[in-house]
Amino acid sequence: MSDQTVRDTVILGSGCSGLTAAIYAGRSNLKPLVLEGHEPGGQLSITTLVENFPGWPEGIQGPELIENMKKQAQRFGAELSMAHLVSADLTKYPIELNLGSHIVKTRTLIIASGASARWLNLPSEQALIGHGVSSCATCDGFFARGKEIAVIGGGDSAMEEALFLTRFASKVTLINRTAKFRASPIMLERAMAHSQIEFISNTIVEEVLGVEEKDVKGLRLKNTATGVESILPVSFMFLGIGHIPNAKMFEGQMDLDEDGYILAKDDVYTTLNGEIIKGVFAAGDIKDRKYRQAITAAGSGCMAALEVEKFLEEHGR
Ligand code: NDP
Repeated sequence: MSDQTVRDTVILGSGCSGLTAAIYAGRSNLKPLVLEGHEPGGQLSITTLVENFPGWPEGIQGPELIENMKKQAQRFGAELSMAHLVSADLTKYPIELNLGSHIVKTRTLIIASGASARWLNLPSEQALIGHGVSSCATCDGFFARGKEIAVIGGGDSAMEEALFLTRFASKVTLINRTAKFRASPIMLERAMAHSQIEFISNTIVEEVLGVEEKDVKGLRLKNTATGVESILPVSFMFLGIGHIPNAKMFEGQMDLDEDGYILAKDDVYTTLNGEIIKGVFAAGDIKDRKYRQAITAAGSGCMAALEVEKFLEEHGR
């Protein structure tokens, strides 16, 4: 089935960035279609209390914040669809989006499909996300006040998280699965020199303890060199093992960096071989490996929607 109607704009992703874009595009009467994708609500939907989003002095639960944004976007005519993108043809104009069951044509596309945190994928870890397991030190560090915690990873993200978390935690144990650290020497040295950070190498997490209590009680660890198991009593586990940008479906059609993030020109325009792709804009974590905050993603969604408006106006809409 092919839907012959050409949309003014389609927004890929329903996280903070996509929904902010939808609010702005909706208010401009563009009737945006938001494709919710495989992680509806994005990373906020798996967070608990968000205390640093301006306007909520007591904080707000991540899923509630997302729900509010959805309602706000729908109030201005945004259409939310649980569909996800199978493939896109950006060489065609209007742009063609294959949603599996049908094709959607659109004059503009905002890619706000985000980056998913990489998890260990242990059942116990997944059960405790938001209850002492977190992939965002900036978001949840505050809740680790006075506690002994663990950070998993050996790259710059893990070092940065560990250093940041020393502001709150009484002790940070950094656990790396090998003896080799991927982090840049300066970050590694800084973390190693910190008196509150202890390093454990050649070690993997086998289980996060506390599933029954719905609260992290410790980690069951295994030394990969000796096979010896041990228990590390911590109340929080932060993952710092990287993110996976959700832009795989645009490979070959768009300039991406070596890790698959969109290389957005002037923060918002997508390019192929350095040339701007007509009508295709990027917003949020899909092009931001640095800040990754709800508020920066929201701001970026706003920017993309304003660019869409300008683009449509310049192209006679
Ligand atoms: P990296 O890919 O650099 O590092 C990921 C780390 O996680 C590695 O130590 C890796 O181990 C480990 N890891 C991956 N999967 C698992 C797993 N399943 N179990 C246990 N450990 C795992 O990601 P980062 O997010 O740290 O950095 C990404 C990029 O962003 C880098 O280029 C980095 O320099 C940059 N960055 C820069 C910062 C800064 O300059 N302030 C801050 C943050 C990031 P292994 O080595 O064994 O694969």
